[in-house]
Amino acid sequence: MRQKVIENAPGRPADSLYIPQDILYIFHVYLTKAEYGFALSDIYGNIILKSSLYSLRESPQVEHFFSRLTDFYAICLSNPTYRARLHCCGFTTGINWTKGHLIPNEFMLPEWFEINFVERIAQTVQAPVYPIDVGNSNTVYLFHAKYKNVTNDMTFFNLSIGIGLSFIRNGVLIEPSMMQFSSVEHWDLNLSDDECACGNHGCLITDLGAAYIERKYRQHALKNSNADGEKVSLQEIIQYANHYNDEWAITLFDRAANALFMLIKLISMLAPAKILIISGKLFENNPLLVEQLNRRIETAHLNGTVLYEDMSTTNAIQGCSLYIMGKLLQPEPASVLTATFANRL
Ligand SMILES: [Zn+2]
Repeated sequence: MRQKVIENAPGRPADSLYIPQDILYIFHVYLTKAEYGFALSDIYGNIILKSSLYSLRESPQVEHFFSRLTDFYAICLSNPTYRARLHCCGFTTGINWTKGHLIPNEFMLPEWFEINFVERIAQTVQAPVYPIDVGNSNTVYLFHAKYKNVTNDMTFFNLSIGIGLSFIRNGVLIEPSMMQFSSVEHWDLNLSDDECACGNHGCLITDLGAAYIERKYRQHALKNSNADGEKVSLQEIIQYANHYNDEWAITLFDRAANALFMLIKLISMLAPAKILIISGKLFENNPLLVEQLNRRIETAHLNGTVLYEDMSTTNAIQGCSLYIMGKLLQPEPASVLTATFANRL
């Protein structure tokens, strides 16, 4: 079926649209503030092997990351079928980076920022690396594939430890910096007066970032001499709010819903799109937050339809494979693309 479409496309040589025969498997490396992991998939993103995920909080050493990468890659290569047909690697990071390096943030040790990840991964896997940066853009590709029959313009909000924003316009992924929305985490919309790591008060991230929600829950628990609150995680706070009627947890999510609503409203006015996709760890198993946000959306005349999507690793890997396939279907060779990507930043 694919072949038919290609042959009917006027003015384009059919052979340039074929996926090279020898690339049938993709090795995936993903690294976000919340977790990292590795996987092997086919070109359509169906997962064949996947390593367990590690949280950077549990394993903060950068060399652990590379030794696990090397180990898992060796496992993939131990199967002759995969070894023969595995020739490229997708590197997904939700952490901003430039020229291969991660941009320093408070969640990682300084050693993480001295390494050129793209080069180092390429050395380990001995293959072209296709990096995707900012706001889990790879997942956006998957969502675009899902909704492209409805619209070619969509905006994606990823609420986890940070606030990820990505835009698809005319079917093309556009990074927030190109839309002048690069520092949205530190926008002050006069919603709160909480102190932010940047030194200012009232930044959006203080209401919407998972680490800030955890911190505020802990502070409150300690103030009420409840030592149990000391190590509470976002997942636990979501449980408390949804199943135990914990008033402070409910209040924190109500503030998050309010902050997100203001952000959605602003972005949908400044850069309208037909579909607004909401995803991320804040919304995992959290129907209360969905309800709190929907209540606000229903009474406002919002520009665009809000949809909730799961941003699981499976989705991320499928999205990354779609991205790589899109690159392979272009006439330029992979090495040129990798170099172009690095030079562009
Ligand atoms: Zn700030």
